[in-house]
Amino acid sequence: MAGALKRCMMLCCTSKIATKEDMAGESYEEAIARLTKLLSEKAELGGVAAAKIKQLTEELETDGSKPFNPDERIRTGFVHFKAEKFEKNPDLYGELAKGQSPKFMVFACSDSRVCPSHILDFQPGEAFVVRNIANMVPPFDKTKYSGAGAAIEYAVLHLKVENIVVIGHSCCGGIKGLMSIPDDGTTASEFIENWVQICNPAKSKVKVEASSLSFSEQCTNCEKEAVNVSLGNLLTYPFVRDGLVKKTLSLKGAHYDFVNGTFELWDLNFKLLPPVSV
Ligand SMILES: [Zn+2]
Repeated sequence: MAGALKRCMMLCCTSKIATKEDMAGESYEEAIARLTKLLSEKAELGGVAAAKIKQLTEELETDGSKPFNPDERIRTGFVHFKAEKFEKNPDLYGELAKGQSPKFMVFACSDSRVCPSHILDFQPGEAFVVRNIANMVPPFDKTKYSGAGAAIEYAVLHLKVENIVVIGHSCCGGIKGLMSIPDDGTTASEFIENWVQICNPAKSKVKVEASSLSFSEQCTNCEKEAVNVSLGNLLTYPFVRDGLVKKTLSLKGAHYDFVNGTFELWDLNFKLLPPVSV
């Protein structure tokens, strides 16, 4: 209830609105009627208002005790997207209906806090995204890692992306898991630890070079070193190497810190060595 009222007041903040105290003596029906009237006066809110009213009505009616309804959350989200994005950008969505030509391929963690479209404001059609535990790029392996290989092959050869960006992030559970695997290699999970050990070289580097740091600081270092291991693994894909040699492709590493609100970006330090004469 309190949450619904708070959101109600935020939504209506530009109007002369009922305060929480005003509404405290109202029945739910009266509160909903007042909210409906206020929102209907804001014609520009259109479908968003309708969805919001429905959502708030349900919250008010149940005094916040109603179980979370995933179907309703998905429907409400799509109504918002359709009204605010899809129907307001017919040119963009008309073009995207014909095909995609993204400039970026992005590897990001599956962590719900680090969606690259949100933090980098990527619009539909801008980024071809792979998300997995700890944003890792495995090395070329047709049987073990065909999913990652297929995505990279499609992005580079068919979509002809110009940039591959691997984005690590703060407080990454996957990296913490990697750093926590005991030296004897004992694992307790079916898949997770096996997957994150793709970046074992990063863990080894951090353990040697940052042994005096706290475990938390070592994890932060490993989040960044793991990105570099992934950039190195990208070089095991022949079509990636070809793109780098032809300068049609660049590789970038990044680290998003959602605690401090910062974003670091760096280029792979890739230089073609001169041929060795024998
Ligand atoms: Zn993560």
